[in-house]
Amino acid sequence: MDVLAVASEMHPLVKTGGLADVVGALPGALAEHGVAMTTLLPGYPAVMRAVERPRALARYPDLFGGPARVVRAKMEGPRLLVLDAPHLFARDGGAYGDADGRDWPDNWRRFAALSAVAADIAGGAIKGFAPAAVHAHDWQAAMTLAYLRHGTERTQTLPAVLTIHNLAFQGRFDRSIFPALGLPVGAFAVDGVEYYGGVGFLKAGLQYADAITTVSPAYADEILTPTHGMGLDGLLAARRDRLHGILNGIDTGAWNPADDPLIGARYSARSLASRRRNRRIVEQRFALASDNSPIFCVVSRLTWQKGMDILADVVDDLVAFGGRLALIGTGDQALEGALLAAAARHPGRVGVTIGYDEALSHLLQAGADAILIPSRFEPCGLTQLYGLRYGCVPVVARTGGLGDTVIDANEAALSAEVATGLVFEAGRGDSLRAAIRRAIALHRQPESWATIQRAGMKADFSWGRSAARYADLYRSLTEGPPAE
Ligand code: ADP
Repeated sequence: MDVLAVASEMHPLVKTGGLADVVGALPGALAEHGVAMTTLLPGYPAVMRAVERPRALARYPDLFGGPARVVRAKMEGPRLLVLDAPHLFARDGGAYGDADGRDWPDNWRRFAALSAVAADIAGGAIKGFAPAAVHAHDWQAAMTLAYLRHGTERTQTLPAVLTIHNLAFQGRFDRSIFPALGLPVGAFAVDGVEYYGGVGFLKAGLQYADAITTVSPAYADEILTPTHGMGLDGLLAARRDRLHGILNGIDTGAWNPADDPLIGARYSARSLASRRRNRRIVEQRFALASDNSPIFCVVSRLTWQKGMDILADVVDDLVAFGGRLALIGTGDQALEGALLAAAARHPGRVGVTIGYDEALSHLLQAGADAILIPSRFEPCGLTQLYGLRYGCVPVVARTGGLGDTVIDANEAALSAEVATGLVFEAGRGDSLRAAIRRAIALHRQPESWATIQRAGMKADFSWGRSAARYADLYRSLTEGPPAE
């Protein structure tokens, strides 16, 4: 079965977060379930560099204000189509904004264009390619569903899935953009793209999707509540029979401590002692004193969602309790400043690197003792899954996918030897503080700590099970439910 995926990021070409990891890993995992996935990506400079000998498969003389074409990227692994539209995507800076992090003012146009072309391809614009279903990711691709439903006879009934990776990002724009979207006037309606008087890209996708998925079972429940529904809980509740929580997997090839070129010493659950070498390298890279106290790491966007303000408030206690901290991240300037100030207050105990560095993120997972994830909400979260696989014990807030994937080291779990991490109440500094204290106490008992590490390393969060669920979902939409 051919499926067209539409997304704004894909590892390893362009990544700002977990979305890219998922979009990058899913095609390979789905191949084992008889699904051939082709992914359409925007032609950012980094993506265009991966396109060798581009051959135009479809041309648009005027796509939202400039010429564009769809080219096929020749690369190993996933089948990739690229929307080469220089007026929209050939820019320095990030996928969504300039080098200073300001959103591009024409993001609505950039991602409406991506979506319109996706619908066109789904409708048969590329000779010999007739996908049986379309799978759009997040608001940047969500308008694909609007263009499908207001498109040709073929596209109107083509099964379409929308995945929410984070409901906080909705793609809301002023109503004045509506005429430029090229949709029929009737689409500006409560059951169309209209959202609180403006245009809502994610909202439109949710409205038109045959199936909505999100990236963990707990988050699928949480987004039905006003607290986590971010204004869309009513719509989601009305469509709850189409909502599925499918846990993200991880790419166990790229994230394998026994075979990871980005770390100093490779190891497995049977050779945990080798992690010490990685620990030394972490100490050097983050200018930490060399001793036996536990190193907590953080690999994160530095935002309110990720609870980085809570962490900044707790750093002094983490140090006072005897821990060390190694952090890599980028994000809000105020949070970057607060964390850099903490590092300056605690030389040798707290090391902070502002930036994005894939290799360093692998090294931290391989060398730190624990990974701290104090998110206020977390649709799935991937860094706790990498932590589990690397014996870097996750200390996580109980929210969304974090609670779905980590077993707290309470007395019952410890005695049954099934604990894989520590879980605390989301959004609360006192609870994070207590968890850090608990982790440090457990770390002083090397046998207990190693048991937790090994239990985590045994847990299977590869894509196998989740890919099967996506494949079943596509099939149920294209063929109807399986026979009893
Ligand atoms: P989100 O998508 O909300 O940012 P996830 O935990 O789902 O959170 O995914 C984050 C991904 O980005 C992980 O692969 C993580 O390792 C990576 N990441 C986040 N910040 C950095 C950073 N500063 N350097 C390297 N990798 C990072």
